[in-house]
This record gives sequence, structure tokens and C-alpha cells, in this order.
Amino acid sequence: MAKRFSPDKYVEGILAGDRVMLSRAITLVESRLHSDQELAQEVINQVLPRTGRSVRIGITGVPGVGKSTFIEAFGNYVIQEQGKKLAVLAIDPTSQRSGGSILGDKTRMESLSVNPQAFIRPSPAGKSLGGVTRSTRESIILCEAAGFEVIFVETVGVGQSETAVHAMVDFFLLLMLAGAGDELQGIKRGIMEMADAIAITKADGSNVDKAKAARAEYQNALHLYPMASSGWLPKVSTCSALQNTGLDKIWQTVEDYLQLTQSNGYFDKKRRDQNLQWMYEAIRQSLEERFYAAQQVKEQLPGITDEVKEGNKSAFAAAAELLKLV
Ligand code: GDP
Repeated sequence: MAKRFSPDKYVEGILAGDRVMLSRAITLVESRLHSDQELAQEVINQVLPRTGRSVRIGITGVPGVGKSTFIEAFGNYVIQEQGKKLAVLAIDPTSQRSGGSILGDKTRMESLSVNPQAFIRPSPAGKSLGGVTRSTRESIILCEAAGFEVIFVETVGVGQSETAVHAMVDFFLLLMLAGAGDELQGIKRGIMEMADAIAITKADGSNVDKAKAARAEYQNALHLYPMASSGWLPKVSTCSALQNTGLDKIWQTVEDYLQLTQSNGYFDKKRRDQNLQWMYEAIRQSLEERFYAAQQVKEQLPGITDEVKEGNKSAFAAAAELLKLV
């Protein structure tokens, strides 16, 4: 087992921007051990007053859309042109390898991963979506305490993980390919509705015209959606991560969004709502964990499961019987 420190030691290190301590604290957050969880909560509680001041940006898109290339280019832009410190976290419940998604392939985010102004943390391996979501939320807080001003949360745009990411970020950016069609890209309408901005990727070479056409098409499509309660109308732009074009425009869109939502109160309201959502989610998860960890449940679950399978007991009666055990 890795070395553990006192909560103060983690807190001191994180607040001083010590990346090794930040990494270690995130490891605690990701741990399944009860003692690690307790230690993590103590650290989080102590750093909490120093958090909340970053811009949290969710980035999604189907595999092949150019997510990692984009994050590398846009990340470098944010660091170099905007002078910000950047943390990149990932939500990928499918990643089983240790090292997870973002660094799974060595060529991904080559320059960001060695940039001292960037902190990259892959998705924790071998966890359920709920587990990944929780550790990512807590990791955001730890990164903020360590002085990271912009946080990217990357997710693969194919499942429920976008909804989870949307619930923990201020701004949601959807990457799309030109000319592939929504259905081909597996992008569901609900995801488009969540987007605060859409960026058409790979707008370079012979692809430029197609990308421009796609931009117009998506911008029109977005006009058909009801106005969001933020008062923000989602923007569509084109970019090329290979040629570093269009990145400034996307950052400008983020800033415009922040300006609008911070002045009309939506930004704070959304953060407060998200906090409450995190609380309820934490309660739900913890109840579930406790339920399945209870000795009596462990003993009786297999038998009752068989009874339900064989049709000898209704699902509701079975659930009620099990719930009575705890
Ligand atoms: P991901 O699966 O969404 O992370 O996509 P990658 O970043 O791995 O990119 C998928 C492929 O698209 C790779 O072959 C990239 O070289 C290519 N690609 C990514 N960004 C661009 C771009 O801006 N222009 C062009 N022409 N190709 C790109």
C-alpha cells in the first residue's frame, strides 16, 4: 500500500501547488478503502474554502472526432495565450487499463503532459460510472485548491457520461465532425441540447468548406431549440487542432458565456444547484454501498435473487424483504 500522510500534509502540499501531493490526494479520492475515503474527505473539507474559482469546461465528442488532439492544442492555447494553469481530468468508465484513457496512448497530449503549467489525470480504471463521477468531482475541487484556473473534463461522447460531466461543469463543449451527420456520429439530440458551444473539428485542407457548411447547419439547428434558462444562445465554430486555428474563437466564446452568466446570476445558481445534486448523489451512493456491504444482505441476496429469477417472488416483495435487513 502506498504511503499515507496526515491530512495537514496533503492540505499544505496542495495549497502550495505541489503536484505530487495533489496526485496523492486524488489517489485517496479514487481509493475504495474506507480509511482512505475518510482521509480524502478531511483533506477536501480543509481545502474547500480555497476552491470554486476555476472555469470548469466539459469536452465531449465521439472517438475519432479529434478530442485528444484538440485538448492538447486548446490546452496549450489556454496556457500560453491566456496564461492560465490547466488541469485535464477524464471520465471514461470503460477504461480498464491503469493509466486510463487520456494517457493510454503515449502519443496523446504529448506536449501538455510535460508542461509544468498543466496537470493531466486519466480516468480511474475499473470503476462504475457513479464511482468515476464521484472521484472526478472531488478531483476538480482538489485541482482548484492547487491553483488550477481552468479545468477540462474530457469524456467520450457515447453514453451516459456526458450527462454526468454536464452536471459538474460550467461550460459544455461538444466536438463534431463535418459531414458525418448526427446519427453517424452517435450524438443524441439530448447531448446537442446540453452544449453551450459546438466546435467542428479538423477544419483544415480540403475539409474547410465542409466544416463551414456544417457550422451553418448546426447553428441553424440550435436556433430551433428553446432558449436556455441561462439566456445563452449556443455558438458553433470551426477549428483545426493541427493548424491551431479557431482556438482563440472558442476561448472567446467561453469568456462571453462567463460574462453573461456571471452578470445575470445564472453561473452561481448553476454551481449551487450542482452542489445540491452532488450531495444527493453522494447520499444515494453511500446508502447503496452500505446496503450491499451489510452482512445479512450478502447472505440473503443470492437466494432471493434466485426466487425472483424463477418467478417465485415478485421483484418488489424481494426488494422490500432485503431492505428490511438493514
Ligand atoms: P479522439 O479519438 O477523439 O481523441 O481523436 P484523436 O485526437 O485521437 O484524433 C483522431 C484522428 O484525427 C487522428 O488521426 C488525428 O491526427 C486526426 N485529427 C485530429 N485533429 C485534427 C485536425 O485538426 N485536423 C486534421 N486534419 N486531423 C485531425
